[in-house]
Amino acid sequence: MTCRCGESNKAPAKHSFRRTVAGTTFTATADVESCAGCGDVYVPSSLMLAFERAVAGELARRGPICDETFRWIRKAAGVERGELAQILGVTPETIAGWESERRPIDHAAWRLVAAMVLDGVEGPRAVRTRLKIPHRPAATSAAIGTEHVLELPPGGMVARVLSLLAGPIDFTDADVADALDLDLAALRAQLRELAALGLIRATPVPGQGDAERWTPSTRDPAALLRAADAAGVELDAPIARPSRKGDGVAHARPSSSSWRATSS
Ligand SMILES: [Zn+2]
Repeated sequence: MTCRCGESNKAPAKHSFRRTVAGTTFTATADVESCAGCGDVYVPSSLMLAFERAVAGELARRGPICDETFRWIRKAAGVERGELAQILGVTPETIAGWESERRPIDHAAWRLVAAMVLDGVEGPRAVRTRLKIPHRPAATSAAIGTEHVLELPPGGMVARVLSLLAGPIDFTDADVADALDLDLAALRAQLRELAALGLIRATPVPGQGDAERWTPSTRDPAALLRAADAAGVELDAPIARPSRKGDGVAHARPSSSSWRATSS
């Protein structure tokens, strides 16, 4: 890629992220590339999303529960107001009210969205485990005015899938599709490509149809990502999202291909 200054050589650079949410300032530093000519820094969008997700993960773990954090984690969970309203049985205006301090926030709703965020960051966990989130209103937050340095998770979707699979828990493809809000058939196609490169391998899950549990070649996420990179895997490549049906709720299972099989 050639810079607008005409230079095509790159130089390593650092980029600092900084964002203040509900009184806490979050920072992170990432290795990026810059133009060797003019010094313009190139920050991939997947890295910006990774920073927003890291902030959301921290807020989901520790709160505080307030309008600003609710909006932040809802967006990070990738759930639209209309969709969340349908899940909760409230109106989109109610959610807009929670996100603008016009209405006191429903703490159960906050915890549900926080759980969705953490499923996407750490992989799915039992609901009871997920709902143990500190009950901390913004006004009494000890974090106000403090600065918090975040470790940036991998940015690209393929990198996120590999990181989940390298974690301490073995997930099925359906678990990963649910946690990362991905189309199951598209995810399976991607997993098979990674398996063909020897990065992961599949074990059928008895009694769960065609679901497979995927085991990584190494439990060290950084090493797995390096091996994938060395094998030519495009770690930033997107994976299709589930198609949303008319009711606004995701239908990851059964996959669209099995629907076609039964209706034809
Ligand atoms: Zn340049």
